Amino acid sequence: MNYYSLNNKNHIVSFKEAVIKGLAPDRGLYFPEKIVPLPQEFFDSITEYSNEEIAFQVIKQFVGNDIPKIELEQIISETLCFDFPCVAIESDLYSLELFHGPTMAFKDVGARFMSRCLAYFNKEKQNNNTIVLVATSGDTGGAVASGFLGVKNIKVVILYPSGKVSDIQERQLTTLGENIFALEVDGVFDDCQDMVKKAFLDESLASKNLTSANSINIARWLPQMFYFFFAFKQLKSRNKSLVFSCPSGNFGNICAGIMAKKLGLPISHFVASTNANDTVPRFLETGIYSPKPSLATVSNAMDVGNPSNFVRIQALYNDDLNEFKNDFSSYSFDDQTTKNAIQYLFHNLDYIAEPHGAIGYLGLKQEMQNHENSIGVFLETAHPIKFLDTVEPLINQKLAIPKQIEGVLNKEKIKIKISNYEDLKSYLML
Ligand SMILES: *Cc1c(COP(=O)(O)O)cnc(C)c1O
Repeated sequence: MNYYSLNNKNHIVSFKEAVIKGLAPDRGLYFPEKIVPLPQEFFDSITEYSNEEIAFQVIKQFVGNDIPKIELEQIISETLCFDFPCVAIESDLYSLELFHGPTMAFKDVGARFMSRCLAYFNKEKQNNNTIVLVATSGDTGGAVASGFLGVKNIKVVILYPSGKVSDIQERQLTTLGENIFALEVDGVFDDCQDMVKKAFLDESLASKNLTSANSINIARWLPQMFYFFFAFKQLKSRNKSLVFSCPSGNFGNICAGIMAKKLGLPISHFVASTNANDTVPRFLETGIYSPKPSLATVSNAMDVGNPSNFVRIQALYNDDLNEFKNDFSSYSFDDQTTKNAIQYLFHNLDYIAEPHGAIGYLGLKQEMQNHENSIGVFLETAHPIKFLDTVEPLINQKLAIPKQIEGVLNKEKIKIKISNYEDLKSYLML
């Protein structure tokens, strides 16, 4: 399978090259040349397939011949080493829990898949280090750090906004050591993301083999399609079409859902649920895309003012606003509404949600009024423990610490403070 740059249809690369580069030289995002729907037989018998087998069928056309079957199966089985349960919350309404992985964030899947693809491609080149440079607003850092830990010939450098990530999130990216390095940036997430983008364009860093691990990288983005198939497998016997609500920041996850629909999955509608960073809901209302600087909220992994995957979504709908609106809605919720939803879910439905999942629930409830005969699924993208400062006071209860988190709690945070691009550059030049 080949990929082209969304800034230039004639710039074409292989899967391997797209994964290694991350972003095209013209700063365009890579996009698959074609998307071939899966056979009906696959959907009819999906309940007989294991998650690994489903994932293989879903991803194989996008990898093509760049990774042999046996290696790809190994990568998938290491990626999917945990469960993806669909939990009933109300009648015809489910939480798809994506947080049972090693860092308890849904980004574990993308990070594990990408790191293993990159490790496979790196095997051939001896003594050639790659630097994975990543900006995080919350969960990406921990998932990438854990996903790449100990992977040969790869050094991971993570930028995160000082004081804007939770204590547990910070520990997950500053305590691992080995090939993982953390930079604490005096600024907000957009500053981190801008610095990363600048470094990729900087000719004087060309010899450093920089690559990204944000969802702009196709190996982070595409495996997120799996979740939607796993939900379908669990809900298939209900024989109803599905509405998915994704708590959205950079819109990679929901964009992967749209890809899953293109492959033939019976999804009747998508809801992009956002916090106060409402660039996309405003776009749907006005038809004008006008990004704003990001605002800090309690759902900090979605504090994104200019969602990087939105251009991919527009490409999937051929830039046709009407076609897009038929399939897709987007709603924004403020912090108070989010907190009320966490309390409502706890007291009335006996479910502990964290802020991102609560926003997913709110968006789903709003949209389901228009879909009486469908099943609604919201994605719960992190474990509540990762947002305990918000969740515990709201439900007036202590959360038990899962074993994945216990491991990082007492380790020392190791990080370097930087405040501008020059600092980052000198660090990378070392
Ligand atoms: C990254 C993240 C999101 C947003 O996902 P996107 O693919 O960037 O839209 C939502 N919730 C959590 C917990 C996250 O870490």
